[in-house]
Amino acid sequence: MSDSSPRPLDLPVWPQFDDTERANLLRALEQGQWWRMGGSEVDSFEREFAEYHGAPHALAVTNGTHALELALQVMGVGPGAEVIVPAFTFISSSQAVQRLGAVAVPVDVDLDTYCVDVAAASAAVTSRTAAIMPVHMAGQMSDMDALAKLAADAGVPLLQDAAHAHGARWRGKKVGELGSVSAFSFQNGKLMTAGEGGAVLFSDTELYEAAFLRHSCGRPRTDRHYRHEVAGSNFRINEFTASVLRAQLSRLDGQIDTREERWPVLAGQLARIPGVVPQGRDERCDRKPHYMAMFRLPGVTEERRNAVVDELVARGVPAFAGFRAIYRCDAFWETAAPEESVEAIAERCPNTEKLNADCVWLHHRTLLGTEEQMHAVAGIVAEVVGRV
Ligand SMILES: *Cc1c(COP(=O)(O)O)cnc(C)c1O
Repeated sequence: MSDSSPRPLDLPVWPQFDDTERANLLRALEQGQWWRMGGSEVDSFEREFAEYHGAPHALAVTNGTHALELALQVMGVGPGAEVIVPAFTFISSSQAVQRLGAVAVPVDVDLDTYCVDVAAASAAVTSRTAAIMPVHMAGQMSDMDALAKLAADAGVPLLQDAAHAHGARWRGKKVGELGSVSAFSFQNGKLMTAGEGGAVLFSDTELYEAAFLRHSCGRPRTDRHYRHEVAGSNFRINEFTASVLRAQLSRLDGQIDTREERWPVLAGQLARIPGVVPQGRDERCDRKPHYMAMFRLPGVTEERRNAVVDELVARGVPAFAGFRAIYRCDAFWETAAPEESVEAIAERCPNTEKLNADCVWLHHRTLLGTEEQMHAVAGIVAEVVGRV
């Protein structure tokens, strides 16, 4: 019997869970107190997540978008302020800024790492700049040396959008050891997840205390008399979510190790395919958790890129189109938009324009597969890119 149909890829599923999540969920349930003020799971998770990232404080919140919003709020970002964000990112980076009535100023990214171009960020600093928000794209950390200098020179804080960067390191330093605030997401696709969730890491105790107050309707932890001291909202996470995240955190290092082993194999194969250029790596990011396996198809149109993604999906490869440039989303123009046209922003963001059309990414569960599967995936990419 000839075997003409290709074997299914059968890559690992995401999210992953085992008896650890089961036991933790039951433990949370049986506490009989399911919010953070009554139970101990959120407090424990915050301690463990902070310690894992070398930060003095972690505050768990409802999701990554709220994590960014809360961090910006306690940094004093509000109406009249500007925050510099990369133009190539998930829309939450700019939406969090705009929700506070501040202007998100998109700047170009580096064509190799897809992280913020520091020269472009520097050129965008004005007297209204209140913060700079690098995004560690797919776990590739932004140039934290150059950004620290830029922020210090401009006299503004950095806010790391670390939604892709759980466990990442920059020259040996963990995300929480870099002296700036960082915001994480635990949405279903992220590197550790409870379906939804987020966290903010602080090195500064006063900022952490301010964030705690604002994330709980401005109410002090022990208050029983409705003394709401500052404006805020309810960004509290529940005990079930935290119990699952504790289990997920215990699995993260092993998964990063596997992805760190697989990516060079896959990237090496991808780089040999004509018309395919994998995301590059700044070696100063000496631990990259690989939230996405990203590559470009330089020179293709958006339509052709989309056709490649559709064909990869049809062949069992978990592929996605790269982010749309934030200034090319209608949402970006609804509130607190910069006084600049789409064309003017596109003109000064040539690399984002390229990525907007030609970037493809594969789900990180791909990189949890076997070495053999990396070859199979690259083989399918080669066939599809050669044909579509
Ligand atoms: C996922 C993501 C967020 C937002 O996280 P949610 O938990 O989905 O709100 C923010 N920034 C980036 C870059 C992301 O990829």
